[in-house]
Amino acid sequence: MIIAIDGPAGSGKSTVARMLAKRLGFWYLDTGAMYRALTWKAMQMGVKLEDENALCSLMDETTIEFQGKDENLRVFVDGHNVTKEIRLPSITNNIHYISNKPGVRQRMVKLQQKLAAEGNTVAEGRDMGTVVFPNAERKFFLDADIEERAKRRYAEFKPSHKEVFYADVIKDIETRDRRDTTRNNSPLVKGRDAIYINTTKLTIDEVFNMMLKEIESVGHT
Ligand code: C5P
Repeated sequence: MIIAIDGPAGSGKSTVARMLAKRLGFWYLDTGAMYRALTWKAMQMGVKLEDENALCSLMDETTIEFQGKDENLRVFVDGHNVTKEIRLPSITNNIHYISNKPGVRQRMVKLQQKLAAEGNTVAEGRDMGTVVFPNAERKFFLDADIEERAKRRYAEFKPSHKEVFYADVIKDIETRDRRDTTRNNSPLVKGRDAIYINTTKLTIDEVFNMMLKEIESVGHT
């Protein structure tokens, strides 16, 4: 069984995907982490981020793996634990070079499908329901007002990055939204068959319970 969750940054999808994976005993597939991992490696190796051929070759020779489950999920690139590093703003600001390359996306999709074939999976990203898992048993599209999403990100960053400003966080999210929704390849869109949840005024537990109810009803539809 596959649960596909898509949505923009700060919509709550990572938190709820982990919670659902834990409750259901499913694997948690964080596909954003995979694009982050390749961006990390490309930057380490000094690969030109505009060069699609070089990025495809890099992807072919790179091993991206996960260890652990839900909140203890760790990401490894060629055996090196990059879980923390891939969250740095320097990575986040450069992912769009990687994520708009069709050749890279094709390879990512294949790897994501292979990983999900290992067992029941909660898959989270931008194109889970629309491209990677079109036959997922349940598809969700999570969204929230941009101010609320920025507030959540700001609260997340502030303890470890004292120098972060709310105005910068909202600007970064706006830029990322624009890039993710307007790119030619697998843009972030709500699929017709996805259940839309606006999480602006909801607690994470409320979102979790709504989704769980929908998932539990799969057997009865
Ligand atoms: O989910 P996360 O914020 O870690 O994703 C980082 C970036 O990776 C997104 O802004 C998007 O550009 C890209 N991404 C993607 N397709 C996915 C998951 C993430 O293009 N399935």
